[in-house]
Amino acid sequence: MPRIHREAHRTERIGWLRAAVLGANDGIVSTASLVVGVAAANAGRTEVLVAGVAGLVAGAMSMAAGEYVSVSSQADTEQADLTRERSELASMPESELNELTGIYVQRGLDPALARQVAEQLMAKDALTAHARDELGISEITTARPVQAALASAATFAVGAALPLLVVLLAPEAGLVYTVAITSLLFLALLGVLAARAGGAPLLKAALRVTFWGALAMGLTAAVGALFGTVV
Ligand SMILES: [Zn+2]
Repeated sequence: MPRIHREAHRTERIGWLRAAVLGANDGIVSTASLVVGVAAANAGRTEVLVAGVAGLVAGAMSMAAGEYVSVSSQADTEQADLTRERSELASMPESELNELTGIYVQRGLDPALARQVAEQLMAKDALTAHARDELGISEITTARPVQAALASAATFAVGAALPLLVVLLAPEAGLVYTVAITSLLFLALLGVLAARAGGAPLLKAALRVTFWGALAMGLTAAVGALFGTVV
């Protein structure tokens, strides 16, 4: 099938890229914040590492569970919609033809043309035409909840590993600042990479992620410092 204007279709690869960036982003922000909070309470490197690794595992599992549930329930809904549509097409093809014609009229075709379009599309593949134009399901795919869950957990773990590596390698003095600054750099870099791939403005993307990262780390640092002096 010929592909027309291929450069306009960056949104296609945004799907998985967005999920990967989001996972890594979450991993960096939550682990760096956790580490900064514990380090600000004057904990030693070992305590900071234990907290960080526990945070990595907990976060990766929670991402996996969330993704699994969300992808599964979306797949269930789509399957139910398609089953109903399939039986409607079998039992009342005429009213389904009228329904599709009505949709194309609403989108701006005149009634005669709309009917012709609906007839031809339904002759080719009625279920696909109804799924796309009535239900908004553009591709009848089998959603893969387990793969989605694994991918989410893996990208989160990769992101979370970055601040943990810094904890492992950096000098213990000033660990709070080292982790905070390097993590903001990782976040900015990730934001720029994602924006480049998606063709979005770079600076804006970098500022957006670093702002939320800085806010999260600032808050946990404050909590850590408070508990570190009080307790
Ligand atoms: Zn229909």
